[in-house]
Amino acid sequence: MRRLQQAMGIRVRLWLAAALPAVLVTLSLLWVFMDRQERDLTAALADRVRATALQVAGAAEFGLFAGDRQGLQRQVDGLMASDPELLGVAVIPADGRYQIVAGELPALLPPLSPEVSVLFGKVLVVAVPVRYSSIEVDDLFAQTPEFRLDLAPQGLAGQVVVVFDLKKLRAQRRDLLVWAVLVTVVALGLAAVMSTVIASSVTRPMAGVSKVVEQIGLGQLHARADVLTSGPLDGLARGINAMASRIAMTQDDLRQQVAAATRELRLQKEAAEQAARIDTLTGVASRRAFTERAELEIQRALRYRQPLSVVMVDLDRFKRINDTYGHAVGDAVLVSFAQVLLSDVREVDMVGRLGGEEFAVLLPGIEGEEAMRVAERMRVAVEAIELKVGGQRLRFTASFGVANFDGMEVNLPGLLARADAALYQAKHTGRNRVVYADQSVPSFEDTRPAG
Ligand code: GH3
Ligand code: MG
Ligand code: MG
Repeated sequence: MRRLQQAMGIRVRLWLAAALPAVLVTLSLLWVFMDRQERDLTAALADRVRATALQVAGAAEFGLFAGDRQGLQRQVDGLMASDPELLGVAVIPADGRYQIVAGELPALLPPLSPEVSVLFGKVLVVAVPVRYSSIEVDDLFAQTPEFRLDLAPQGLAGQVVVVFDLKKLRAQRRDLLVWAVLVTVVALGLAAVMSTVIASSVTRPMAGVSKVVEQIGLGQLHARADVLTSGPLDGLARGINAMASRIAMTQDDLRQQVAAATRELRLQKEAAEQAARIDTLTGVASRRAFTERAELEIQRALRYRQPLSVVMVDLDRFKRINDTYGHAVGDAVLVSFAQVLLSDVREVDMVGRLGGEEFAVLLPGIEGEEAMRVAERMRVAVEAIELKVGGQRLRFTASFGVANFDGMEVNLPGLLARADAALYQAKHTGRNRVVYADQSVPSFEDTRPAG
């Protein structure tokens, strides 16, 4: 059963559902109608033949009584001539002594009976009894044997048998059948057309809606079901369209949110990268930014044989400032110190904070001697800074180590190490001074003010 249901498509099932009731109703109506027509026809025919037979019986009463065979023969002949559907007519007296016959009679005739008998076979045979309506007999005559009446035990004079042709009835039946078949075929055809229309009015929209659902499932969110051609499924089509719109909207929303988040992340990343390149306290380059730039400048100096100098700077006794005035004042010192370094360099130069209170200045295109002069100018400027802290004047100094890129070291750490060594030397020879890494270059330590 299940397999059968699967094999039958929805179209066939709908077709059957729509067509079957119509066919059944048509057939049963037809059957009832046919049966009734048949019975009516048969009854009408039997009545007609019976009436004919009764008419003959009435007329034959006297003939039988008088034994007038010729008169009886004329009667039956006349009747035969009057109706072409009559096959035979006979008047038979109760004692069966003779038969007055016109046409043909069947071999087996109905027995004499006081009732009218109707036999349907290949032909219709109706037998009607003939009675004497009233007989007044004088007792005298009754005694005489010539006038003794031969009456059957039931009081019957005889019977009239009428044989009727059923060809016409059969033809009528056949016509009825043909007509019924025609009506059935037409009804079936109409039912088929109607049910096909009904079935396709459901299956076509269903196929359309199914296709759209499949497309949406495949991610084609612009696909829409046609509500106008969806017929009884228009509600479903509308619902699916609304659903697809919502999904598309949600997807657009999500896409926008993702794009916004990505943009925000990128900005944050750029900001973080920027922050990583700039020292947040002093605004000079971070150690990383300084190192990258210095590496580049070393490569350039090597390639184009250009001079390059680097100055390492460290605040003198900064710990003491922190300890005496506090960390915030220490920060303010770092900021003003960095400002002085920045104000004394060109666009192409770079000031970087390597860590704590240790800074470096990159001077591309600058020879050692020029670098010494720059460092000295810075030293003097730092020395001149005066911060007011709680009514007191705070001054500080810094030590400088200068190194020139001589093409010997091909990397930054080597250059920085030489500058650092010079700085170390400046620290150990009294601080607040500039020391050059190469001793052949005159030191500026003598320029240091006394005290
Ligand atoms: P020297 O002359 O030998 O350089 O002595 P110094 O005291 O400057 O050197 P030291 O390295 O002993 O001390 C450096 C101090 O700098 C220690 C640390 O607390 C302080 N410092 C480092 N970074 C910061 C900062 O960002 N803010 C402040 N306020 N202090 C810092
Ligand atoms: Mg220091
Ligand atoms: Mg230090």
